[in-house]
Amino acid sequence: MMPFKELVLASHNAGKLKELQAMLGDSVRVRSIAEFSTIEPEETGLSFIENAILKARNAARLSGLPALADDSGLAVDALGGAPGIYSARYADGQGDAANNAKLLHVLQGVPDAERDAQFVCALALVRHADDPLPIICEGLWHGRILHAPRGEHGFGYDPLFWVPECDCSSAELPAAEKNQLSHRARAMSLLKQRLGIA
Ligand code: IMP
Repeated sequence: MMPFKELVLASHNAGKLKELQAMLGDSVRVRSIAEFSTIEPEETGLSFIENAILKARNAARLSGLPALADDSGLAVDALGGAPGIYSARYADGQGDAANNAKLLHVLQGVPDAERDAQFVCALALVRHADDPLPIICEGLWHGRILHAPRGEHGFGYDPLFWVPECDCSSAELPAAEKNQLSHRARAMSLLKQRLGIA
């Protein structure tokens, strides 16, 4: 049984809210932190996990509700894991299209064999702002960076992320299929096991 009837998601990203609500199902209502505050905390951590904990604590403090945070991004092997925790602001806050254009630019001339990458998702769930025992789950999704965008679904780097097992980009996958396979799906499946709602 899900221990909470509702929780707040520490993200202003509508794409994430939609995916996480779909994965958690109807047993819990996922509310957006945008209902409580428009100010986003500074992500001062150096890892996905540190930033997820920081965001979850902040959301719990602002809302008074249990809080779930998703810190996620794309780690490209040839770039030493960049853009990593800086994925959302890779092109200095100019948005998804600019982030994708920058990634294609820095990988210009890099052959397919060296374009391996993974989407990473760290989920942190806190019962309250000072919870000394956050639940942390991580999920990875392995793929390769394409040379040009493909597909219209998803968000962020999806049009550039080739999924070998599906023979298409993650932006070509219908939402339901992406939600079965993605880094977020893998982390969420672990979280559901931990909560006893798998
Ligand atoms: P965060 O909101 O700081 O965790 O940043 C997440 C960023 O990583 C997003 O803005 C996207 O650029 C990228 N990202 C994370 N998950 C996905 C995904 O499922 N598809 C495409 N891009 C993603």
